[in-house]
Amino acid sequence: MTSSTTEVINRIVIVGGGSAGWLIAGLLASEYAAGAQPGVSVTLVESPDVKTIGVGEGTWPTMRGTLRKIGIPEADFLSECGAAFKQGTRFVGWVTGADEDAYYHPFTAPAGYTGINLVPHWQPKRNEISFVNAVSPQGYLCDRGLAPKQAATPEYAGVANYGYHLDAGRFAALLQRHCTTRLGVRHVLDHVTAINGAPDGDIQSVSTASHGAIEGDLFIDCTGFAALLIGKHYQVPFVGKRHILFNDSALAVQVPYAGPDSPIASQTISTACPAGWIWDIGLTTRRGIGYTYSSAHTDDAAAADTLRAYLQRSPGLAAGEYEPRKISFNPGHRAKFWHRNCVAVGMSAGFLEPLEASALVLIELAGKMISEELPANRGVMDVLAQRYNEKFLYRWDRIIDFLKLHYVLSRRQDSDYWRDNRSPASIPDSLQKLLALWAHHVPWHADFSQRDEVFSSASYQYVLYGMGFATTPRIGARHTADAERARQLFTENSRQADKLVRNLPLNRDLLAHISEHGLPRA
Ligand SMILES: Cc1cc2nc3c(=O)[nH]c(=O)nc-3n(C[C@H](O)[C@H](O)[C@H](O)COP(=O)(O)OP(=O)(O)OC[C@H]3O[C@@H](n4cnc5c(N)ncnc54)[C@H](O)[C@@H]3O)c2cc1C
Repeated sequence: MTSSTTEVINRIVIVGGGSAGWLIAGLLASEYAAGAQPGVSVTLVESPDVKTIGVGEGTWPTMRGTLRKIGIPEADFLSECGAAFKQGTRFVGWVTGADEDAYYHPFTAPAGYTGINLVPHWQPKRNEISFVNAVSPQGYLCDRGLAPKQAATPEYAGVANYGYHLDAGRFAALLQRHCTTRLGVRHVLDHVTAINGAPDGDIQSVSTASHGAIEGDLFIDCTGFAALLIGKHYQVPFVGKRHILFNDSALAVQVPYAGPDSPIASQTISTACPAGWIWDIGLTTRRGIGYTYSSAHTDDAAAADTLRAYLQRSPGLAAGEYEPRKISFNPGHRAKFWHRNCVAVGMSAGFLEPLEASALVLIELAGKMISEELPANRGVMDVLAQRYNEKFLYRWDRIIDFLKLHYVLSRRQDSDYWRDNRSPASIPDSLQKLLALWAHHVPWHADFSQRDEVFSSASYQYVLYGMGFATTPRIGARHTADAERARQLFTENSRQADKLVRNLPLNRDLLAHISEHGLPRA
């Protein structure tokens, strides 16, 4: 059977049931009310034999919109996924490695961000106040372990911007239950044994061990590193990025809190180490901690020692010996993501490294674009595929620049890992050009061409000026004219920070309250 250009795209088959598979299933099924009408059907096939990756516990604020769209009440999500609020990342030891070396990349944009660039006004006082504290209350909230909202704040709304820390295994289980019981997604628990092509080159069906062949019009490859459809079947090349981003290994552990009152951090803690960095993510019942490192710069035994030393010196953890799980990955992405009637989403599309939690947000963006622009028929699919590939290649490149920025700005001299990270050969041209530009021009909206950038100029500002980068801007009339407005915003921010510090509950206290009383519905 060959596909004709007028063939309607109705049968969507997702292969893989990790976070990627179930998020895409939820976004598609909620957009098209799958099962509630004849029309679009969503089937998810998941192998009982291949485990999900089981990490991926930090999200972006976008996850709030995604969960709301899928129709999961926030209180249910928080309690079923052991989830906690995340307000950004605290980077420890990334600049020099000295004791006091730490800065925040918070989720709340700098005050007045849509209309005024505060950096030129903050720079003269950079020795008095950090950039983050001058322009946002969020560093103060994170310092004190405070929640981004109050018990009376409606679900998915916040006083400060936030995403989540979640248990990846429980998240996939919640999405599965919701998608199958509420959204009409058909779930097939079976191993895919073959991909069957049609004569025209499209995928016609996937064969399963005991459910026969499952036919579809559009196939979504969410098979993780196996990349069964995009890689094994279509042989779409993989573009390695290890020459830019060196990390290719991780050791991960899950550690209970020392006691029921141990504080839950409001941010991911990312601590620089000799050959990589350690993530520390606080859920309600445990912390997820892992060392991601470059195998070219250390070995597994030394990495395990580094992780153990971190666990021993970290307050609030239950004592014990924790056996880490090793995960290897090849940083990079596919040369394209949508090929014929197959789209790769999640780890099958690529993975760079855990820094700044950019993987789940890319899955959400993929789900949004596929569901909002689902091709009506086979004839228009290639047009959308080309647009999708251009958009996502741009996004991967921008993410690579942003992640590399964290390493390039470091002044650490303690190991080859940090020195090699600054070698010009490892820095993409695009980032080198931006850094040259930003020596005299503060990052601003016009530096990036897309309306929905994954990392906006606000994120660049937080990292650049958090890491001590100095810009020598032109003295311009606009900055002078904005001086009064800037002064007002700095004062308002300081007042707002005082008020929030007094009024917001502790992260742990609010989560306990929500688990007992729920949250007001929006
Ligand atoms: C160390 C590390 C830390 C990370 N931290 C973060 C983070 O903090 N934030 C973030 O956003 N992301 C993070 N990520 C990425 C994140 O984990 C993934 O993007 C996310 O979990 C999605 O994975 P996935 O669903 O693509 O793949 P997987 O979870 O691997 O799922 C693959 C699915 O495919 C199925 N499958 C495979 N073969 C077959 C077959 N033959 N037949 C049927 N089914 C099959 C499996 O059964 C499974 O259900 C991290 C990744 C790593 C490696």
